[in-house]
Amino acid sequence: MTDFKEIAHSGGKITFSIMTDSEGRRGFQVGIRSSRPNPMSMIAVYALPQGIPVGSIQLGGIGSPWNPAPFPGCYPVMIQSDSEGRFGHHCPSCDGYWRSGPWPNVCPYCLFNAEGYQFLSNAQRGFVRHYCDVLTQAFEGEDGEVLIDMDLVADAINQEVDKPRFYVSEQSQQRKFNCIACDEVNDILGRFGYCSLCATRNDLADFEMFTVPAIRERLKAGAPPEDCVRDAVASFDSFVAQYAKQLAVLVPLTEPRVNRLTKQRFHNLKDCRTIFKNWFDIELCAGLKESECRSVELMFHRRHIYEHNGGEVDQKYLDDSGDKTVKLKQAIYESKETAHDLLGTLLKMAKNLHYGFHVLFPPIDAPIQEFKDKKKRMGK
Ligand SMILES: [Zn+2]
Ligand SMILES: [Zn+2]
Repeated sequence: MTDFKEIAHSGGKITFSIMTDSEGRRGFQVGIRSSRPNPMSMIAVYALPQGIPVGSIQLGGIGSPWNPAPFPGCYPVMIQSDSEGRFGHHCPSCDGYWRSGPWPNVCPYCLFNAEGYQFLSNAQRGFVRHYCDVLTQAFEGEDGEVLIDMDLVADAINQEVDKPRFYVSEQSQQRKFNCIACDEVNDILGRFGYCSLCATRNDLADFEMFTVPAIRERLKAGAPPEDCVRDAVASFDSFVAQYAKQLAVLVPLTEPRVNRLTKQRFHNLKDCRTIFKNWFDIELCAGLKESECRSVELMFHRRHIYEHNGGEVDQKYLDDSGDKTVKLKQAIYESKETAHDLLGTLLKMAKNLHYGFHVLFPPIDAPIQEFKDKKKRMGK
């Protein structure tokens, strides 16, 4: 319902006090005041006077000095969050847009890794140019105060008025999620992606917390177990496809392998296991009992019958599965228990794939460790 909603700037008033000291050197102080009720947080970047961001500033606490500018003559530019306390970001590699905390490490769509200031959104870049222009002009004038009124910007949202030249707003995306590894809030296009702070994928959390419980609920509510088996295998197939798509982009592979990973399904467990084991050393069935493996393999074959043949055994099923307990045209059924067991096994396999993937593309440790420490402190 709230997809792609324009999110107002957090507002406030930015004042530059331009002054000249006793030796004739000119300098300025920045003040930011906000009396609005919405959340507001702030970051800062170093920018060339032409308005080009060239470095992040670690603002730190009171009394702790800033990191030095990468070049002499840079302006420090304060950038405020949107009115939900988040920052819009733009990926210079894939052109993707998302919102999250102040300083992302990677793009949630393509895993491009860069310094925080390189991910500024287009709206923020426009604002940085305006800020630098105002400051340059202020230096050309007399000592005194110069104002950038961001309240005007915040108020101009959804108004049919001429927006200020330095108008800034962000846009809500489709999936807001707290990363399970580091707790960062990410707001991304579509459903699946990397956490932009720690680079952990969100697919496993989604599968574990939403997909599997939703199918279990349907089973409890009396839905046909055959439908649930079919949907469980289909969800697992989509889950695998997300990782496969990433591997196809991130790992150098031959064209037939890229095509296999991106254009075909993962409904045949034996085939799927071979691919991930042989190409990426990821064992989907690690830690599973042999009987569990056989049973899930059979369910993958049965999915075909429930999906395409109304629950009646066909020759393809007999050939593919080697199942000797049923005959051609026989209608087959599942029990609730089988469906629940299948979901449990699929979750184990999903974890094997997720953690195997992150062995190849390790998450960023610092924010994960920080979140662990915070949980520990709160536990005490
Ligand atoms: Zn990207
Ligand atoms: Zn994270």
